[in-house]
Amino acid sequence: MHATPFAERIASLPKAELHLHLEGSIRPAVASALAARHGMKLPEEEVRRRYAYTNFAGFLDAFKWVTSFVREPGDFALIAADLAEQLLAQKVVYAEVTLSVGIMFLRQQQPEANFAAIVRATEPFEKRGLRLNWIFDAVRQFGSEAAMRVVQSARRCGSRRIVAFGIGGDELSLATKEFRGVYERAEEYGFHRLIHAGEIGGPEKIREAIEILGVERIGHGIAAIHDVGLMETLAERKIPLEICPASNLRTGALDVQLGKSAATIEEHPLAEILRHGVAVTIATDDPAMFHTSLEEEYRNAWRIGLTEEEMAGVVENGFRFAFGKVS
Ligand SMILES: [Zn+2]
Repeated sequence: MHATPFAERIASLPKAELHLHLEGSIRPAVASALAARHGMKLPEEEVRRRYAYTNFAGFLDAFKWVTSFVREPGDFALIAADLAEQLLAQKVVYAEVTLSVGIMFLRQQQPEANFAAIVRATEPFEKRGLRLNWIFDAVRQFGSEAAMRVVQSARRCGSRRIVAFGIGGDELSLATKEFRGVYERAEEYGFHRLIHAGEIGGPEKIREAIEILGVERIGHGIAAIHDVGLMETLAERKIPLEICPASNLRTGALDVQLGKSAATIEEHPLAEILRHGVAVTIATDDPAMFHTSLEEEYRNAWRIGLTEEEMAGVVENGFRFAFGKVS
């Protein structure tokens, strides 16, 4: 008789997720409901069509498009509660969720009001066993001044639930050093620091983020595979990579890093990076937009060739590298 693959057994384990965007978790039905709240008709089919892309620019466009329906604090409450249900259904007991505060400012919203609504909507889930903390995220291509506004906003919220500051978006757009002052300020205010790097950019983007910005975790970081010295540094300093296999496949980041087209999930460098001693966590990034779930990502890890022992270590890392208190 076949043993149950470990990836299947993961479903029953309590899990933590550390790289997950609230705005990337909007399921087609929820997007339709949001549009309806604002008097627009948006068929779920159209959302599904928009959630298909062949490259990173296409993904960023879709992200911008779907967030255009998230306009008021009540909209944020709706999507946050829906995400919490999705997480509980997968036995996720702890998550650090990224909020695109840079986009809120772009749309002239009040991040503090949005955040208060999100906390009100998700606090009741603690009684059901799900603890959520939050990461305030700036958009790299919007520049350092906009990023500083995000840090200031995180401070104004004055909430212990905001555990970190980060930057996402187009990592090829602006030089890392432009954000030095922003990260210094985030540290001064007591926030942990992380960044999306080495997703479509090269290993130097990861190195710069560590050396110049002092980040403690790297979003994606799969470009590390090209630089053994960098992988040694990551291992020594215990800086984990938050790896999101389905995301890398669907944004074309995997093709970029492997220098080919139509790369398959089995070719993902996750196993190789792990075997260089680098700590790794597994996450969904934007589960609705990448048609994935945390359980599916563990199945992906299995397809990539992780052993049971390695998978168990990765599950543990989700708790070990959390910035906030996990229980
Ligand atoms: Zn991300």
